[in-house]
Amino acid sequence: MSAKTIHAKVLVLGAGPAGYTAAIYAARANLEPFLLAGPEPGGQLTTTTDVENYPGFPAGVTGPDLMEEFRKQAERFGTRVEYDLALEADLSKRPFVLKGDAATYTCDALIVATGASAKYLGLPSEQRLRNRGVTACATCDGHFYRNQDVVVVGGGDTAMEEATYLTRMCRSVHLVHRRDSFRASAIMQKRAVDNPKITIHYNRQVIEVVGEEKVEGVRLRDTITGEEAEPIAATGFFLAIGHQPNSSIFQGQLDMDEAGYIKLAHPGSSATCVPGVFAAGDVADRVYRQAITAAGTGCMAAIDAERWLAEHG
Ligand code: FAD
Ligand code: NAP
Repeated sequence: MSAKTIHAKVLVLGAGPAGYTAAIYAARANLEPFLLAGPEPGGQLTTTTDVENYPGFPAGVTGPDLMEEFRKQAERFGTRVEYDLALEADLSKRPFVLKGDAATYTCDALIVATGASAKYLGLPSEQRLRNRGVTACATCDGHFYRNQDVVVVGGGDTAMEEATYLTRMCRSVHLVHRRDSFRASAIMQKRAVDNPKITIHYNRQVIEVVGEEKVEGVRLRDTITGEEAEPIAATGFFLAIGHQPNSSIFQGQLDMDEAGYIKLAHPGSSATCVPGVFAAGDVADRVYRQAITAAGTGCMAAIDAERWLAEHG
């Protein structure tokens, strides 16, 4: 770690839709924000191709192009983007202290917009075919599988919701779960179980996503017998085994739910339990997790920070 220390009135952690939007608003309020881009500059959307549901782009836009526009807009108003990540945080006193790889950062107000990462199974074939049929977002990518056969893996509410959603556009949906019962709520299970387009494969573990250039199907193992089971032919493979919010550096300092999502003071606010620390985007949102909601809450965090600094800064 470097001995260099940089002070910012407002420090934004994260260069996804939430972080860049917070920076645009903070910069236009003359708060001279400093933004740390972290391990994935541009955020989750840089890992996808077409984004068709972000308003203002009737012909669609690629994730990397959209995030490049966000970055330019934030920099246009004076945001300083630093390609560093926060490794440790001390929120016990002001100014807050964030230790990065390249420098130590202090700030009067902090906006946490570090996102959440979808969990993957960890198979090499899954990694190789990512964005070529393997995805973790049905709302985002379901449209590309119109009239096709797809696989959803998972047994929680997300899996039920994603599988049910996909039946609106796909020809068939195979729901693969590693046990003989779902952990999803009764109502969500019923919706999936009763849907004639969904075939449920209990006690099955995905051992390989098959395909050279794009997904062609999955190979399965029977989790009871350990034997290889009947494979499924499909062009889409949707992970729905949960998300991990990127909040670990704030563990013990910010209130979080049991999954690690940062708790906000109340609905309609971006305030956390530490005065002067605000959270926006997927790191504080276990429900919507969309670019537009992340951008919206990024705006809220900047406005909340500005008002808080006007009173306490
Ligand atoms: P993220 O985009 O996750 O950005 C988090 C940022 O925080 C990153 O820049 C990262 O580097 C940074 N960071 C993390 N840890 C640290 C740290 N310690 N220090 C500093 N920085 C840190 N949504 C849609 O609306 N439409 C779509 O079509 C769509 N498609 C998607 C496709 C895929 C494959 C995926 C994975 C998601 C998709 N989403 C889509 C969801 C959307 O990408 C997210 O909801 C959105 O990106 C969340 O924005 P965010 O700013 O909260 O976080
Ligand atoms: P979750 O409840 O943690 O469920 C994850 C599922 O994925 C579990 O069924 C788990 O199997 C399976 N899984 C995990 N790792 C796996 C692996 N490596 N291989 C195969 N399967 C694996 O996550 P979630 O469904 O994303 O839900 C998270 C929270 O959000 C929950 O509280 C949920 O109620 C809530 N949520 C609510 C709604 C809604 O109400 N509309 C919608 C979505 C999410 P096991 O069951 O065997 O552990």
